[in-house]
Amino acid sequence: MKTPPESARPGPPRCILHADMDAFYASVEQRDDPTLRGRPLAVGGDGPRGVVAAASYEARRFGVRSAMPSFEARRLCPDLVFLRGDLRKYARESRRIFAVFDEFSPSVEGLSLDEAFIDLTGSRRLLGAPADVGARLRDRVREETGLPVSVGIGPVKMVAKIASAEAKPDGLLEVEPGGVRKFLAPLPVRRIWGVGPVSERRLVELGFRTVDDLACADPRIVEQLLGRWGTELAGLARGEDLREVESRGAALSYSEENTFREDVADRALLGATILTHAESVARRLRNDGVRGRTVVLKWREARRRSAGPRGYPLRTRQITLFEATDDGAVIAREARRLLADSGPEEPVRLVGVGVSGLEDPGRAQLSLFADGLEKDADPGERAALNRALDELEARFGAGTVVRASQARADRAGLSLQIKRGEDPAGDR
Ligand SMILES: [Mg+2]
Repeated sequence: MKTPPESARPGPPRCILHADMDAFYASVEQRDDPTLRGRPLAVGGDGPRGVVAAASYEARRFGVRSAMPSFEARRLCPDLVFLRGDLRKYARESRRIFAVFDEFSPSVEGLSLDEAFIDLTGSRRLLGAPADVGARLRDRVREETGLPVSVGIGPVKMVAKIASAEAKPDGLLEVEPGGVRKFLAPLPVRRIWGVGPVSERRLVELGFRTVDDLACADPRIVEQLLGRWGTELAGLARGEDLREVESRGAALSYSEENTFREDVADRALLGATILTHAESVARRLRNDGVRGRTVVLKWREARRRSAGPRGYPLRTRQITLFEATDDGAVIAREARRLLADSGPEEPVRLVGVGVSGLEDPGRAQLSLFADGLEKDADPGERAALNRALDELEARFGAGTVVRASQARADRAGLSLQIKRGEDPAGDR
């Protein structure tokens, strides 16, 4: 049997959810003013050089799209209602939406005010089947904000993002790992990430009209015609997208890593290194009085895949525990399990262990920050404290201190639902 080349080996299936609010600004306005419901609405600049920032689905039926010049939108839809919009209000809604996203995974990567990748890979054991999780997330967003959100689920980022677009409006679409090629095949090449109008023209001229045209093409010919860029594009066309969800909560994690003097393949050595890192991370957690629910194992492969500083691929695997921990033995056990189950298949140059998904940083921690700010701390220390406080606020929202107990209650409610394991998939 032929073994697939390393670069084509995708590793264990990941589960990534892309959530995208439907016509976000317009939906907020329609929610807040019932007279706007059912009417074609655009939010954006009304002046001669204004553009549409968001269009309601009623307006889209006339061909009105975001980024379109406002005068053109009016020409297409003479009855269009135009609102200037209120960014502060949308930012407020955004925080509520992301608070819901955070209930589902410690790994949430916001792309804009109304859109995020949510990595469910590590939460699977805890949360259940991806489609059920997606349905629950949609329900929770509507419960909290009264707004519709569409959800796409797939084994890689690009597929999840395309799936959510296909699910719109107000829908959910899951593409299972085995269905990726079939899902992508008929789409026009412009749906591949990084293909703009100019590249699309070029690709079509060369005979690559659909994603499948590119996925099935002889790699040598693709390379000849389009160079390295073409090879990467063809990989994406086959659903090979190795980008990880880059959590904005990453700053709120504790981790330690080391680069080996020589590349290491020996599992026993990796295991021992992981134990050392785990103990050290646990000490820091205890020292700061926090615990984390997610254990992260990361490594950097020893084989260079492309030029530049990011040429050695960095991989992460994570697992979410039922209970937060600050115990080095638990962290080491989970990290070593990740190593055994889905760890590197070739030598590595770096290995690290982290803990994220920190449980309520807690009042003690917060008041400590607050006290520090009031004292005459030196400027460096003040800056660090400020930064920490900002990160907490960014992640948990303004007024974190007063809302801590509320957040805990919400989370307890959610985990009860999960434990029952029979939460109805929603009234879709
Ligand atoms: Mg959106």
